[in-house]
Amino acid sequence: MAKKKEEFKKEKEIFLEHIQKSGLRKTAQRDLILEIFLKTEDHLTSEDLYWLVQKQDPTVGHTTVYRTLKLLTEAGLAREVRFGDNKTYYEHHYDHEHHDHMICTNCGKVIEFFSPEIEAMQDEAAEKFGFVPTHHSLRIWGFCSDCQHELPDQHQTVSSGAQPRVRVKSVMEG
Ligand SMILES: [Zn+2]
Ligand SMILES: [Zn+2]
Ligand SMILES: [Zn+2]
Repeated sequence: MAKKKEEFKKEKEIFLEHIQKSGLRKTAQRDLILEIFLKTEDHLTSEDLYWLVQKQDPTVGHTTVYRTLKLLTEAGLAREVRFGDNKTYYEHHYDHEHHDHMICTNCGKVIEFFSPEIEAMQDEAAEKFGFVPTHHSLRIWGFCSDCQHELPDQHQTVSSGAQPRVRVKSVMEG
């Protein structure tokens, strides 16, 4: 669901409000980082975003990108997600529908999915334990349709107790 540039008006207002509330100034670098983040509909590490920002302004440091991503998360514009490779990924959060993830342990492809049935079952399970859920993140690791045929038979029967080695790859716009 890519959005047009002028549609980020609300996101920019939210960000401005948040940095002012945090006692920070609006800067050209923060604005550029926000703009590039909003334009990139993907799961990004701070490193990934840093390289995208570098293409447009080489004076922006990695720390600035990292801190700005933290601000975006606090402001509710970004959400942190983890895919089991010890990295923190960020994705759009504001005005985005809830979804869960399937992660290919061979090529690192990340598939977003939503199942009303699974969502309902999770609520039912919580209710059974008198638990009030606030949020959840369902992740399924395995092999994507492109990778299944390349794998030897033994890999297709990895027990659910095994820890797969995950190499997450983000596909970014050139
Ligand atoms: Zn879900
Ligand atoms: Zn794959
Ligand atoms: Zn996602």
